[in-house]
Amino acid sequence: MRKLHVKSYGCQMNVYDSHRMADLLTRESHAEIAVAEEADLIILNTCHIREKAAEKVYSELGRIRKLKQAAAVDGRRLVVAVAGCVAQAEGEEILRRAPVVDIVVGPQNYHRLPALLAQVESGAKVVDTEFPVEDKFDHLAPATVAATRARGVAAFVTVQEGCDKFCTFCVVPYTRGAEVSRPVARIVAEVEGLARAGVREITLIGQNVNAYHGEAADGGAATLGHLLERLAEVPGVRRLRYTTSHPRDMDETLIAAHRGLAVLMPQLHLPVQSGSDRMLAAMNRRHTGAEYLDVIARLRAARPDMAFTSDFIVGFPGETEDDFSDTLRIVDEVGYAGAFSFKYSPRPGTPAAARDDQVAKEVKVERLARLQARIDHHQAAFNRNCAGRSFEVLFEKSGRLPGQIVGRSPYLQPVQVMAPSSLIGEIATVRITGVGSNSLFGTLHPAVVPEPELTGTGG
Ligand code: SF4
Repeated sequence: MRKLHVKSYGCQMNVYDSHRMADLLTRESHAEIAVAEEADLIILNTCHIREKAAEKVYSELGRIRKLKQAAAVDGRRLVVAVAGCVAQAEGEEILRRAPVVDIVVGPQNYHRLPALLAQVESGAKVVDTEFPVEDKFDHLAPATVAATRARGVAAFVTVQEGCDKFCTFCVVPYTRGAEVSRPVARIVAEVEGLARAGVREITLIGQNVNAYHGEAADGGAATLGHLLERLAEVPGVRRLRYTTSHPRDMDETLIAAHRGLAVLMPQLHLPVQSGSDRMLAAMNRRHTGAEYLDVIARLRAARPDMAFTSDFIVGFPGETEDDFSDTLRIVDEVGYAGAFSFKYSPRPGTPAAARDDQVAKEVKVERLARLQARIDHHQAAFNRNCAGRSFEVLFEKSGRLPGQIVGRSPYLQPVQVMAPSSLIGEIATVRITGVGSNSLFGTLHPAVVPEPELTGTGG
């Protein structure tokens, strides 16, 4: 058996893709290992979202070159593959700049990995970044029960890939291609398999997940709301989430799902990027600040305990202090439970990168600090308000302290509780007794404290 090491960067979709690549190869020819040093095949599953993403990949490949040399001294051949969005964006250039690489494979082509490896065996170097006509999901193997269990009680399932929105700062439409949705039946089958293996929480993922429009059982198109309704019926599934959404695609079926499905968690990541209508137009977000707030209001009317998180970009080209004030205002109006915020940095090939009204770095740094302070203020208030309340917590793993286990609240906050590890994989009611900077602390509701196990010989 050859040894495979997959290193994943970036978003949850990359984590999901890395699992699928490992599932495919471990069924055929490889065993997955956690360390690169002993591998016969290393796959770097790269991300293009952060600044200087490609340069970081090249410097990692410099380290891998030394591993390849060491393997050759030991008489082993180390095959190196670069996958993900940097592979898609750079293509042949990777082979030119990093001769250590044998395979460059784009996100739509992972199902072809065994064939690409066979070509490498016969001495070739291969680049496969075409957008194929066949659906890779038809060819990728489902995870084995053992692999699913090893990955825990919460799992991601990709339901949609690509994006047609073309926000002017974003590379996704170029690296992941046009929107494609998986058929409902295939997703249901995957979720049923995960639930049978013990998974209790499913997060549906897609670059623009609420644009989902997969084939339904009757041959028509199902929305994400319809899909969630169907998945709520799968035995064993106790929690559903989805990410990442675009405000424009928050349709009535999805809002109805939040109103009617108890298993759909009352937490939503809904990126707004800016509170300024001028900036939203320049970003090609296709909605205004008021329209975004209207979506939030409709969701809160459907599910009053909803909490929201978001993404923000500060210092987009042309952003003035007035535009930035609008962003601070929307943060206050929504009262986010948390948010990711970044300084704008140009992505080569995107329209905003070519603009000549880039904001000075010091201005971006100063605005980002103010924005983050405002977000932290609301996040701390949200967490403080959790103290004294009782939540259903899905326990996922042991904690750092002996006798401690850690789970997630409905709002995704980590919750630490002193409780038996037999509760891992279960949902139990926890009363929140303390609030830390990154997690909540609680005690089990007395009704769910399990009986201690009898260990004596009895009599
Ligand atoms: S909707 Fe999201 S993925 Fe699509 S272009 Fe905009 S930021 Fe990128």
